[in-house]
Amino acid sequence: MAEEVETFAFQAEIAQLMSLIINTFYSNKEIFLRELVSNSSDALDKIRYESLTDPTKLDSGKELYIRIIPNKNDRTLTIYDSGIGMTKADLINNLGTIAKSGTKAFMEALNAGADISMIGQFGVGFYSAYLIADRVAVTSKHNDDEQYTWESAAGGSFTVKLDNSEPLGRGTKIVLYLKEDQTEYLEERRIKDVIKKHSQFIGYPIKLVVEKEREKEVDDDEGDEKEEDKTAEGDKPKVEDVGEDEEADKKEKKKKTIKEKYNEDEELNKTKPLWTRNPDDISQVEYGEFYRSLTNDWEDHLACKHFSVEGQLEFRALLYIPRRAPFDLFENKKQKNKIKLYVRRVFIMDNCEELIPDYLNFINGVVDSEDLPLNISREMLQQNKILKVIRKNLVKKVLELIDELAEEKDNYKKFYDNFSKNLKLGIHEDSTNRKKLSEFLRYHTSASGEEMVSLKDYVSRMKDNQKHIYYVTGESREQVASSTFVERVLNRGLEVVYMVDPIDEYCVQQLKEYDGKTLVSVSKEGLELPEDEDEKKAFEEKKTKFENLCKLIKDILDKKVEKVVLSNRLVSSPCCIVTSQYGWSANMERIMKAQALRDSSTMGYMAAKKHFEINPDHNIIENLRQKAEADRNDKSVKDLVMLLFETSLLTSGFTLEEPTKHAGRIYRMIKLGLGIDDDSADTAVEMPSLDDLPPLEGEDEDASRMEEVD
Ligand code: ADP
Ligand code: MG
Repeated sequence: MAEEVETFAFQAEIAQLMSLIINTFYSNKEIFLRELVSNSSDALDKIRYESLTDPTKLDSGKELYIRIIPNKNDRTLTIYDSGIGMTKADLINNLGTIAKSGTKAFMEALNAGADISMIGQFGVGFYSAYLIADRVAVTSKHNDDEQYTWESAAGGSFTVKLDNSEPLGRGTKIVLYLKEDQTEYLEERRIKDVIKKHSQFIGYPIKLVVEKEREKEVDDDEGDEKEEDKTAEGDKPKVEDVGEDEEADKKEKKKKTIKEKYNEDEELNKTKPLWTRNPDDISQVEYGEFYRSLTNDWEDHLACKHFSVEGQLEFRALLYIPRRAPFDLFENKKQKNKIKLYVRRVFIMDNCEELIPDYLNFINGVVDSEDLPLNISREMLQQNKILKVIRKNLVKKVLELIDELAEEKDNYKKFYDNFSKNLKLGIHEDSTNRKKLSEFLRYHTSASGEEMVSLKDYVSRMKDNQKHIYYVTGESREQVASSTFVERVLNRGLEVVYMVDPIDEYCVQQLKEYDGKTLVSVSKEGLELPEDEDEKKAFEEKKTKFENLCKLIKDILDKKVEKVVLSNRLVSSPCCIVTSQYGWSANMERIMKAQALRDSSTMGYMAAKKHFEINPDHNIIENLRQKAEADRNDKSVKDLVMLLFETSLLTSGFTLEEPTKHAGRIYRMIKLGLGIDDDSADTAVEMPSLDDLPPLEGEDEDASRMEEVD
């Protein structure tokens, strides 16, 4: 029966990654072992989890372990695990043909100066085998398929064939054909060190096949022959004769002692699970090592919390905040959480959604429950009361941890840079903890300088007669700092919080207040600044004076705005556009437009409700008022109002529906400024007065409607 060997091409990016791994000069190659052992551990987790609901899945091999077998004669290092194994399709898909988002991301990270040891975090750890091997053979047996072997010496392709050699039972065997200069990974000492350094907390026994020697008495006449013996583990020992001369004295008794070499398994990771130990006896270094083995991270955690809960319900947990957000933190909605669930020291599952809310999905760690049943299934977890209590406790502890972190300025900044989005998402989603979460927010404000400050800082600086916390949302610090909305508020010596993260819009909608102070957007209608009676009275008078102008402008702008009112927020700008209290802000409209590109039909009724505010103290507005008073149907008034409106759209953070029309108006103003007469462009004539402006192209229709309104 001829074996059929099929050849496959690696997916293009994977091929690229492999040649990068092979050709990059890189000295810290030992991490390949961590990656392969971690894959084995994952595979063991999977079969263990499946066996909880169907114990027959373990019939093909009950013991769950990893074995490392160095072979100096063949210059191979073999890593075997009795995990779930891979079917033929798995081998083809998982090891070469299906692109992973991490492949490209990892190569980009490398280009940007990342280290190869970060490979595991990008989900392509397997290929690190090519750091030390020029050929790799993966033989695997899954319960649902025959035994197959995948093999590749890189170069863009791999083969898969049915494997008729020694049956594995179940699991995966990876044979690494080491490069000539990588034989150090066949040395017992070296392997032990690497495992201790990177994999000591793996939850399954890692056995290293070591060579031992023992003395043995044999009959002299048999002495020359090779003999076989069985070790406890059933490995085939090699027996070597020891020089006869040394043993000569024993010859006369027709017996002699020989030294024989034999192989034995030595377990390398006998440490008790870290979380079961007393926190007082655990060093920071150990916490760091455990964290790295848990997460494949290449650097230590930022903060951690190790605790146990006793009473009606009992569990232990060890939670970590990493230093960095993973590259795909918000890439897709189904982002898994990173907490491993154990029941009485037995690993149950990764990514148990009921354990922690989505917004805390960056927390790594383990939870070990004394109360849950071992054979719990994902379906059962959903209604499980014990789990609900655990979750509540975990959230509480994470918030405590963040609270502690907030005390250390530098670390907190690191944390905030990476995970502020999560906190804001939490404010949006978690009403129970909203108050606590709001304490963690940090913003630049008009008074904060380069540092970010908390809302608590803001409140502590509030003016005596100030009731609200003022904020503005927008695209960038520079943009909001110079926005027209902020003018008067700043002029009155009030501080404005700059919210420039898109998620701030969502966050602030739910937050509404802090420490009893309402959060007030300076870009929304009805902005009330603290003012005295005189100021109020003066403003009322102005309102009457400008009432007609407001009406006229509303008529001109028609449906473009909801209303036109007098502003008390402007200083140097003639006008601005604010949005109604409950509608979208300009910034929100920008964010939504960017998101809703494919379906702009919903934009119509959702779009921000605009209020046009005019500044009574500005001479443009005063001039306009006088002009309109003189002749309500003055065409130039209409033209100027349109121009002012469109300009305000821009300065208030909106986009123009018809930029070319706006440009047309601007050009006409420029011509006016330059004294160019459209009809007789060749001669410079005196500047026409604004009243002489002809109606704009394509606007006659509008103009006639205007007259009807009148
Ligand atoms: P990751 O472990 O992050 O998924 P890897 O590149 O390390 O990425 O491994 C790719 C995939 O190959 C794994 O997701 C798994 O499906 C499969 N795999 C690798 N090693 C083993 C193994 N020892 N047993 C079973 N499957 C494995
Ligand atoms: Mg892996």
